[in-house]
Amino acid sequence: MLTRVLKTDRHNPSKKVLQEAAEVLKSGGLVAFPTETVYGLGADSFNEDAVLKIFKAKKRPPDNPVIVHISEMDMLKEVSTTIPKRVKKMIEDLWPGPLTIVVPRSKKVPASVSAGLDTVAVRMPAHNVALGLIKHLGSPIAAPSANLSGRPSPTNARDVYEDLNGAIEMIIDAGDTFIGVESTVVHVTENKSVILRPGPIPIETLRNYLNDIELHPSILTGKFEGTPASPGMKYRHYAPKAEMVVVEGTYDRVLEKIVETVHDYLKAGLKVGCIVSEETAVKLPSQTLIEVLAPRNRLDLIARRLFSALRNLDRRNPDIIVAEGFPEEGIGMAIQNRLRKAAGYRILKV
Ligand code: AMP
Ligand code: MG
Repeated sequence: MLTRVLKTDRHNPSKKVLQEAAEVLKSGGLVAFPTETVYGLGADSFNEDAVLKIFKAKKRPPDNPVIVHISEMDMLKEVSTTIPKRVKKMIEDLWPGPLTIVVPRSKKVPASVSAGLDTVAVRMPAHNVALGLIKHLGSPIAAPSANLSGRPSPTNARDVYEDLNGAIEMIIDAGDTFIGVESTVVHVTENKSVILRPGPIPIETLRNYLNDIELHPSILTGKFEGTPASPGMKYRHYAPKAEMVVVEGTYDRVLEKIVETVHDYLKAGLKVGCIVSEETAVKLPSQTLIEVLAPRNRLDLIARRLFSALRNLDRRNPDIIVAEGFPEEGIGMAIQNRLRKAAGYRILKV
């Protein structure tokens, strides 16, 4: 299959591009498109055959559900049966934005979207290309991240192309995404609210709406006992080819430990890759393959660069990767969650 790449402006997307992309979706094809978080791989959510193509193109296990993207509140009523009261105020304030809610699924949404669950994950993205595409289609778009299953999510069109060229009809290239890590996912019922995936909307903000909000235990341990709340949670994610370890603790000790660990690996003759802050990068030996994220206090920039740093490092073929841990405040919780997953929960606590 020939994958067409159409460029457009991320703030003022061309109507012609959106129209062409919507035609592909209407005829049951797949279009990768930018959102404010990462690039998504979209299909018409009411067309089950099209949705199944997403799983095939990504090599995604069928029990990992995808998110339904909407452009207006009326679409929420189409895809879900009931919305808990306390969710309404929250989405009024935070949508469009990087927050996904898990709510009861309406019959109109094919079961394969939700991997057979009776719930559906929904969000309204804050990106004019994504919103414009949904509007041109006239229906919600089902879309997971536009990467091959297990790889870091794409934050630009080149990364999508690298993974999915030849497997999908179209990529809309509108430059880098704004945030860089995937949406926060929350499951809310009348008497319980749980974060299934930490993201750009931090727990501190969610507490203003859901005073009982808690983290799903697997976020802390990376382990599952029994059935995970979301099947997708159990899969290995973002995994680079090389083994990776995350060094966590107070910064002085983290820096010391990273420098020590890097020296040990170099002495052992290994090609060492590092994903670190600017402050740490300047303290590392010159033979190290370094991906610099940003200054430590700029968690927003660290989030934006994280996935492309992981991909870049992979291209440079290190034998081992040492990553710096960051404070778990605000978007820091999402950054730590992605780093730990990428490392398969190999954590060095200092
Ligand atoms: P992706 O966009 O590739 O990060 O994948 C979407 C993620 O959303 C899944 O891996 C799940 O964590 C979550 N998700 C989607 N649908 C549901 C659902 N019905 N219940 C719980 N989590 C969901
Ligand atoms: Mg994904």
